Amino acid sequence: MDDKIVVYRTFYNPIEANIVKAKLEDAHISCFLTDEHVATIQPLFNQAIGGVKLNVFEKDIIAINELLLEDEELLEVPELEGDELESAVICEKCGSTNVGYGMATKNKHSWWVALVSLWMFVYPFKANKCYHCYKCGHEFA
Ligand SMILES: [Zn+2]
Repeated sequence: MDDKIVVYRTFYNPIEANIVKAKLEDAHISCFLTDEHVATIQPLFNQAIGGVKLNVFEKDIIAINELLLEDEELLEVPELEGDELESAVICEKCGSTNVGYGMATKNKHSWWVALVSLWMFVYPFKANKCYHCYKCGHEFA
């Protein structure tokens, strides 16, 4: 009985934290959030308390990594509607129209990050914005 509990990830967005928590619970992986209520009620307080912490058993970390990675491989980009539709944008590398306007990063984002960023007008992470091709991964301004 030496199951050690560790903070797997810290979220500054409680919605995001709950999405990941639900995902882990779906896979029957034990986890719990701490500082959630403070963050939800008092968002400006996040910095002071260090955000919402996702706590897991250390022994589950490999399984969690695989679980979250799996989602990225199955990445399906939800179709944007109305004003958000970037219909004129075509990837300059592969010609795919499956291009989103997002954060400039070489790391693929999980589907839940994409969803959360659509829901939130102000996404907590600061990054340069650019177009990102979901087919080939090419990024361009
Ligand atoms: Zn492309």
